[in-house]
Amino acid sequence: MSKKLVLQLPDQPGTHPVKISDTVACGGKDLWIIAGPCAVESEEQLTAVAQTLQKNQVQSIRGGAFKPRTSPYSFQGMGEEGLKLLNKMKDQYGLTVVTEVMSETQIPLMMEYADVMQVGSRNMHNFNLLKALGEIRKPVLLKRGLAATIDEFLWAAEYVLAGGNDQLILCERGIRSFDTITRNVLDLGGVSVLKHTTHCPVVVDPSHAAGRRDIVADLAKAAVGVGADGLMIEIHPSPDDSVSDADQALSFDSFTKLMDSLRPLAEAMGRHLGTEQRTSAVKTA
Ligand code: PEP
Ligand code: MN
Repeated sequence: MSKKLVLQLPDQPGTHPVKISDTVACGGKDLWIIAGPCAVESEEQLTAVAQTLQKNQVQSIRGGAFKPRTSPYSFQGMGEEGLKLLNKMKDQYGLTVVTEVMSETQIPLMMEYADVMQVGSRNMHNFNLLKALGEIRKPVLLKRGLAATIDEFLWAAEYVLAGGNDQLILCERGIRSFDTITRNVLDLGGVSVLKHTTHCPVVVDPSHAAGRRDIVADLAKAAVGVGADGLMIEIHPSPDDSVSDADQALSFDSFTKLMDSLRPLAEAMGRHLGTEQRTSAVKTA
C-alpha cells in the first residue's frame, strides 16, 4: 500500500498546524523556535538558557536528558534529573519542553515531562519506537535519518500517523554526504518538497546540519526563506564548554543577534517571530 496519511489531503491542502500548548503551535503564522543546549548539564546552565529564551520570546526549550552518543564512553545525559530541570524551566519561564525519547520503554517517563517528543536522527528507523509514538496523543518531532532519503523519511512519518497520532512535525537536520566541510548537508530542497507534498509542519535544525557555529545563522535564515515552520537551535552559556556538540553551539549574544535578524525576514515571508503573536496558535489539536 502507498503512503496515504503523510501526504497532503486534496480536500484540505497545505500545512495542518500542530498544537504544542494552549498558546503555542507549529505550522501556523508564528514561527516555532526551539532553542537550548545539546544536553542538559546543570540547573545553572539551563536557567541561563531559559532567561535568554524568555528575553528573545522563544516558545520552547530543548535539551537532551538521554543522549544518543556515538561512543558509549561519552556523556549519556542526566536522565530523569535532566527532565526535572527542563520542567522547572517550564514552570518558571513558561517554556514548552522538547526533549529526545530514545526508546519505547522511555515513553511513560517522557509523557510526564515532555511537551514534544523528539525522535533523533539515529532513531528514525526505529520502527518499534515509531509505532509506540503512534499510540500516544502528544506531539512528536521526527528528525530525518542521518542518511535517509525523503521517501524513507516519509515512511517513518507514516508509522506515527498510522497509529493515530496526527500531531507530527518533521525536522530536517542535514544528511551525510562526501563533503565534510560541514557536519552534514542541509537539504533545503527537501524542506521545500516536504512543505509542498505533506500536511505536516516542517522545522529545520541548522545546528546539527552545520556542525560549526559560524554558519548556523545563515542556514537558519535560508530555512525561513524556504518556508520552514520553525527552527531548532543549539545554544549554551559557554559554548566551548558544552559537553556535547560544542562546535555548533551559539553564544547567547549570537543567538540574540540571529533572532533580531530573523524578525524582518519572517515578516517578509508572511510569518511572525515572537510571543506577542502567540494568540494565533491553534485552539484545537
Ligand atoms: C540533538 O538534537 O541533540 C541530536 C542528537 O540531534 P540529531 O538526532 O539530529 O543528531
Ligand atoms: Mn546536539
